[in-house]
Amino acid sequence: MPLHHLKTLRDRLKTTRAGKTETPVTFADSHPIFEIVALGVRSGVTDGNLSSYMVRPLGTNEAVICDTGTLGHGLKLAEAKGVLDDIPIMPDSSLSRAGHVLKQSVRAYLISHAHLDHVAGLVLSSPEDTPKPIYALPQTNAILSENLFNGRVWGVMGDRGAKPHIGKYSYKDMTPGQAQTIEGSGLNITAWPLSHASTTSTAFLIQHHEQAILYLGDTQADQPDGPQNLHELWKAIAPLVQKGKLRTIIMGATYPDNQPDNALCGQLRPKDLLASLRDLGHVCGGRHHIRGLRVLVSHVKETFHDNGNPVQQIYRELQDGNDIGIHFMMAEQSARYLV
Ligand SMILES: [Zn+2]
Repeated sequence: MPLHHLKTLRDRLKTTRAGKTETPVTFADSHPIFEIVALGVRSGVTDGNLSSYMVRPLGTNEAVICDTGTLGHGLKLAEAKGVLDDIPIMPDSSLSRAGHVLKQSVRAYLISHAHLDHVAGLVLSSPEDTPKPIYALPQTNAILSENLFNGRVWGVMGDRGAKPHIGKYSYKDMTPGQAQTIEGSGLNITAWPLSHASTTSTAFLIQHHEQAILYLGDTQADQPDGPQNLHELWKAIAPLVQKGKLRTIIMGATYPDNQPDNALCGQLRPKDLLASLRDLGHVCGGRHHIRGLRVLVSHVKETFHDNGNPVQQIYRELQDGNDIGIHFMMAEQSARYLV
């Protein structure tokens, strides 16, 4: 069959699929503003399923990706499940839908910190990628340019560090607490620092017409004698919570409650997450402000221990301690959330 016939046939198949079947959805609010596609959701040894969330205001072709532990593989799985079918791409080549989404829809990466389980997918997809900005705190961009895209571990994909630069990615240093617009999009983003073991991690607020999603990279609980980064974050976003404009928080619960205090590696357990969310309620002026608040729970650690299902265990522990009416959802790879 001539090539152009094949292409037409493929296009017709695409139309038929889009016309006859609904795009799968795991959770849908009655009046959703954003779509979240989970490209990867875990931490630990699940190296095809590591933190990465695509966020897109519905009805637009403007998406950002928060962290990139798993990127290309996550997009391909999402395509296979049909969860990318609603994105209004312009098919203009032999690229797969996943490829179109990466090249046309994704306007920027928001990188919380440079640990490999948050950036490995970006490294591996970078040769196939189109030029994009990387928004991060200055500390994170410095590590990416000096220690990752440095001409030794990988090519110099960014516009800083060892020369010559390939320059596909432009590093955008963010100032904590200062909103900025992502170039060529209607999305505003703001970053705040988080404490995470020996490195600085980041929380990103993504806003579209005053409505917002909050994504937290890895974080530890505030310590009495340390920085109060989570408390400061809650103070900054409390007005959005009070006005009902924070559609969802994406946040990690890495270890179950029986993980000892001295083995947390800068992460949260369900009891720590619940304590911090109670603090959010307090900061907002009362628990009624956070009743029904959606928290998409990410970053559950997978190990080689034969200890049952850690996702179920963490969900159970969150629900058992949930005296504040939070709507917890355990993130699943390739799931699509309309929030
Ligand atoms: Zn980390």
